[in-house]
Amino acid sequence: MKISRVYATGESRRREHPSRDALQTLDTHGVCRVTVETADGLVGNGSIDFGRLDAAPAVLAHLINDELAPEVVGQDPFMIRAVRDRLWQVTDYHGTAGLALLGIAGVDVALWDLVGKAVGQPVWRLLGARRDRVPTYAMVGWLNYGLDELKRICTRAMEQGFRGVKIKVGAPTLEEDVRRIEATRSAIGTSGLIMVDANQVFSLAEALRRGRVYQELGCFWLEEPLRADDVDGLARLAAELTIPIASGENNFGKRQFRQLFERRAVDVVQPDIRRAGGVTECLEIGLMADAFEIPYASHGGGVHLHVLAALPNTLYMESGLLRDDSPVRLVDGCFPLPETPGFGPSA
Ligand SMILES: [Mg+2]
Repeated sequence: MKISRVYATGESRRREHPSRDALQTLDTHGVCRVTVETADGLVGNGSIDFGRLDAAPAVLAHLINDELAPEVVGQDPFMIRAVRDRLWQVTDYHGTAGLALLGIAGVDVALWDLVGKAVGQPVWRLLGARRDRVPTYAMVGWLNYGLDELKRICTRAMEQGFRGVKIKVGAPTLEEDVRRIEATRSAIGTSGLIMVDANQVFSLAEALRRGRVYQELGCFWLEEPLRADDVDGLARLAAELTIPIASGENNFGKRQFRQLFERRAVDVVQPDIRRAGGVTECLEIGLMADAFEIPYASHGGGVHLHVLAALPNTLYMESGLLRDDSPVRLVDGCFPLPETPGFGPSA
C-alpha cells in the first residue's frame, strides 16, 4: 500500500462571540484540513484548528502542500513513525517546533485515520487500549464572562454529566479571581472539580501568591501559571505549592516534555495534539510521563480521545460543552469510545 496524494486546505472566519483568557482574545474560527489518499482509494483525514490569526490555516496548508506532502507521497501509510521522523528532519532548517509541527501533526492524524480505515478498526484499538471510556471535564469559564453567565454555563456543564469545570484566572486582581472561583463553587456544589487556568501570564512571585489562595479554595489544579518554557519556574512552583501544577499545551515535541518530567516541573502534563506533534508524539509523551508517575490530561479533545484510551496514566480529557444536537452522551462522567473505523466523527 502506497500513499498517492497528500493535500491541505485552509479557511477561517471571524467569531461572532470572541472568547478571552488572561493572555489573548480568541476571535477566529480557523481550520486547516489535511487529506491523505492511497492509490487503492483509501482516504485519511486530519484537521488543525486555530483560535486566532486569520491567515494561519492558509499558511499551514501552503507549508503542508509544498514542503511536507512531497516527502510523504510514495510511502507506506503504516510506516507512521518513519514519516514522522522524515518530516522532522525536512523541517529542521527553519525550525520544526512551531507551525511546521502543526503540519506534521495534521499528516500524522490523517495517517492514523487512514490505517484505522484500512483495517476497519477505531484507532484506540490499534494503539492498544487501556480503558473503554475516558473521564472528562469541561472548559467553560472564559474570562470575558460575568459572574452570572459563568455560573449558568458551569451549571450547564454539570447537568451534562462532566466531572468538573475549568475556569480562566489571571484577572487584573486576585480578588476578582477569588470571586470567580467562589461563584463557580456556588454553582456546581462541593462534589465537582474546579480547575483554574492562567494561560502563562504570572511572574513566579505572583504565581506563588495566587497559587496559595487557589489551593486554599480547593481548586483541583493550577494550569499554565508561567510561560511554557520556564522550566525552572514551574519546578519551583511544583515544589512549593501543594496544588498540582499543570502545563504542556504550549510545548512542542517530546524532547521539550522530557525536560518538564526530568525537572519535576509539572504534576499533570497537558499535551496539545497539534503543538505536541500528533497522535504518535502524544502517545510517546504520555508513555514517557507514565514512567515518571506523572498523570496525563489532554489539552482539548477530538482525536485525543483515542490516545487517552490507550495511556495507562490518563487523568482527564478536556472538552467544551456538548452541543444540544451532539449524538454523544457522557456515561458516569466519561466519554465512551467510538466503534467507527479510524477516528470516526472526531477526526
Ligand atoms: Mg489551558
